[in-house]
Amino acid sequence: MRGFVYEALPMRVRFAPGAIADIPVEMDHLGLSRVLVLATPEQRELAEHVAAGLGARAAGVFAEARMHVPFEVAQRAGYEAGRLGADGCVAIGGGSTIGLGKAIALRLGLPIIAVPTTYAGSEMTPIWGLTEDGEKRTGRDPRVLPASVVYDPALTTTLPPGLSMTSAVNAMAHAVEALYAPDSSPIISLMAEEGVRALAGAIPLVLADGLANEARSAALYGAWLCGACLGATTMSLHHKICHGLGGTLDLPHAATHTVMLPHVLAYNQEFAPGARSALCRALDAAGDPALQLWDMLQDWGAPTSLRELGMRREYISRIVSLTLANPYANPRLVTAETLTGLLTRAWAGDRPDAD
Ligand code: NAD
Repeated sequence: MRGFVYEALPMRVRFAPGAIADIPVEMDHLGLSRVLVLATPEQRELAEHVAAGLGARAAGVFAEARMHVPFEVAQRAGYEAGRLGADGCVAIGGGSTIGLGKAIALRLGLPIIAVPTTYAGSEMTPIWGLTEDGEKRTGRDPRVLPASVVYDPALTTTLPPGLSMTSAVNAMAHAVEALYAPDSSPIISLMAEEGVRALAGAIPLVLADGLANEARSAALYGAWLCGACLGATTMSLHHKICHGLGGTLDLPHAATHTVMLPHVLAYNQEFAPGARSALCRALDAAGDPALQLWDMLQDWGAPTSLRELGMRREYISRIVSLTLANPYANPRLVTAETLTGLLTRAWAGDRPDAD
């Protein structure tokens, strides 16, 4: 076994169907008296329902969260938190809403109670992002790590089938890259393998019946583990490419991860034998987890090409340049030629290939 460093992140997790009713208990635990409830416009009703349940302990509702956390939205949310005298935030939603909570925490230091309703995993990480003048900046800061995470699988029953499957693959991507991360560790590998197994088993059941409580619980459990992998390790080629595709071309976050993951895994797996074995076990694959993943996504009816997500072919070279611009760890050397081949296959929706 090679040496490793493992640092546990200080956070508390509450997991149960109906756990949303326990937000006041989490507030007590953190010593919070008035929270600003955050959501997207689409989830305003849920946020208002939660705020009504909190009564005077809700400072207000700010339901303007948007993808990639625009700087001006974060500014306004921070101003509202100050004006309303909030001493914490409850962020109910996916990565966009939790990202807004993080932007407020970064500026004002207010603790976050995160209530995730997708499988994106932001609630488990100290990673923040802010977009200004079309450019997304990201960073790590312990202040933005949610102090408490309330996982309520019942809240994910409204997640449509398309987002359920793509968000699940977004989560799996964290685990896949954690398995070959330079700062991985045996504990992270356990969480990664179990997270992928839980999601791969749960999503077909979720697609068959989106209201199935056991399947929704298993999927959220898997997302939790995969999110913890993202929070603990450094991501590689896959996340680098998706960051470029999302940030520069504005492609949908979870769907972009879904298209790219089998291609990046096919490219890397020969050079990461430990990750390959773990993924064979998790996905019940004979020897090629990338192809197993690809076949699984076909069965689910997931998007399989960047073209269908709206990307024009001529942007491939731009993404190649962006991806190669800054060095980062990856099990296999990446060149302009190999990356162009990989992105061209992903753009066209071809079967993944290791070349
Ligand atoms: P999202 O938060 O943008 O949500 C997508 C849409 O789905 C929104 O309209 C939202 O209101 C809706 N939605 C969410 N949950 C729902 C539910 N249960 N039922 C019905 N509708 C629901 O999507 P996402 O994929 O969760 O997050 C993507 C964003 O998160 C990206 O900006 C990404 O960069 C960021 N992210 C950050 C981290 C991190 O560690 N900082 C990790 C993962 C993702």
